[in-house]
Amino acid sequence: MATYNISLLVGDGIGPELSTCAEEILQYIHDNSNRLKFNITKVEAGDNAKQKYGKALPNEAFDKIKNSQACLKSPVGESAADVVLVLRRYFDLYANVRPSKNYANIPSISSNVDMVTVRENTEDLYLGWEFFSDDDTVISLRKISKVASRRIAEYAFKIANSRKGKKVTIVHKSNVLRLSDRLFIDMSKEIAKKYPNIEFEEMYVDACSMELIRDPNRFDTILTSNLFGDIISDEAAQVTGSIGLAPAANVGKDFAMFEPVHGAAFDIAGKNVANPTSFILAIKMMFDWLGEKCDDNDLKLQSIKFENSIDEMFTKNIKTKDIGGTLSTAEFNQSFLKILKDKGID
Ligand code: ATP
Repeated sequence: MATYNISLLVGDGIGPELSTCAEEILQYIHDNSNRLKFNITKVEAGDNAKQKYGKALPNEAFDKIKNSQACLKSPVGESAADVVLVLRRYFDLYANVRPSKNYANIPSISSNVDMVTVRENTEDLYLGWEFFSDDDTVISLRKISKVASRRIAEYAFKIANSRKGKKVTIVHKSNVLRLSDRLFIDMSKEIAKKYPNIEFEEMYVDACSMELIRDPNRFDTILTSNLFGDIISDEAAQVTGSIGLAPAANVGKDFAMFEPVHGAAFDIAGKNVANPTSFILAIKMMFDWLGEKCDDNDLKLQSIKFENSIDEMFTKNIKTKDIGGTLSTAEFNQSFLKILKDKGID
């Protein structure tokens, strides 16, 4: 029997509703499994925490996350940068992984898409190196290094190697960013040589954003830098249906954080209408990562059951309102638990 220490960051907007769903699911597995146990530590961070404690990421919250093996993070509001960027930097969460796929009965402009965006998470314009060079002008600096480019390329090729598509598309703008993106491409090509079984293509980011709408099935694994990845992965989520379905992983060497791609969605907060699928699939990604790291087959099996349960729900038209259904957040979560139960918990 294995016990995992999971921190659950509650967040803002629809964050508390999604956290409740996640806690119910983990608690359900904990109570019913003979092999998997979870110590869930709730963490207050974000706008609500800032109002209450004067800091978006209070020291106590930070310590609780540090003492866990992985963090499930709900969306955070205006103070997102003070929470997410700090955690990404502290744990050196260098890979941002965002899968997008079509599900049955989800209205979308595409079909049979199953792709993943692997985005470099530590460099690029996101370092926030900006300054006024004079009263009129702001300069923003972009950092791309060999080390970070190599390790994200390695990560992307590993992922591509585990997928059916066996293809990596490197997305860049090297005709304008002639030094930085050339470096990014060169490092990726070095890694590509180690994977002769993986098809490798290059694409400009503007062409990629068109192709994602025109012919999304051509993509399997997109490898790209921080800013381009942020934009492309939101587009990919929308192309396959709804942002309410899209999970993301922020992965480092020893720690990882899992979250929905979307934000705190204040417009629907507290109304019991948010779609918890993004968070359920974030838990699935956490099981995949922990399963691999701790060589735990039970977690890997649970991850497959999660994916199959979501597939089954949409096939049976069990859906929340944002994707054309009628269920509330809480009802959808209960239906998920029922289907998971039918699949059996060992
Ligand atoms: P951010 O800048 O943090 O990404 P945002 O306000 O631009 O946040 P989101 O919070 O992601 O964007 O919300 C965008 C839209 O998608 C909103 O209309 C919101 O209601 C909807 N939305 C986001 N998440 C969900 C969800 N889980 N279920 C249903 N609708 C959602």
